Amino acid sequence: MGTIELVQGDITKLNVDAIVNAANESLLGGGGVDGAIHRAAGGELLEECKKIGGCPTGEARITKGYKLPAKYVIHTVGPIWRGGHKDEIDYLRNSYLNSLKLATSNNVETIAFPNISTGVYGFPKKSAAEIAVNAVKGYLDKNKLPKKVIFVCFDDENFEIYRDKLKG
Ligand code: ADP
Repeated sequence: MGTIELVQGDITKLNVDAIVNAANESLLGGGGVDGAIHRAAGGELLEECKKIGGCPTGEARITKGYKLPAKYVIHTVGPIWRGGHKDEIDYLRNSYLNSLKLATSNNVETIAFPNISTGVYGFPKKSAAEIAVNAVKGYLDKNKLPKKVIFVCFDDENFEIYRDKLKG
């Protein structure tokens, strides 16, 4: 079964097969991790994203990584937190699962996830971590690829939440 690792830092620096972008439905870039990924990958990433023409919440799309160390970027659109009664939990789970499915179908062995929806989209961090870890563990149980999933936490609060959750 695949392994899970925890890292604190900037996802754009990671030397993995694929990094996941917490994008918005336009796929045309934005703030937070999305802005950082587009800046590091260079303008060709935006050109490829324009051709895709957007992505609904909970789904995922794959592009090349261009100037990133990562070969691919998997763009997924997490839900905006609206109080918890708008299927936010299901949408967030689907963001993780659909990203993992794209990873498998593109022979990705190592993939890094940011803490989707926990920035400007306002998803409560503890419950987002619970959904993320459960979705990834369940998927790795049933699939040969990816072999390694790295959770990349940028802020201290998420890092501590994930450290506690992954302890056992
Ligand atoms: P969302 O709109 O899905 O909430 P954000 O980019 O605002 O997306 O935040 C998602 C998470 O990404 C946050 O936890 C934020 O701390 C984190 N983040 C921001 N920049 C980076 C980066 N360069 N690498 C990894 N994570 C990042």
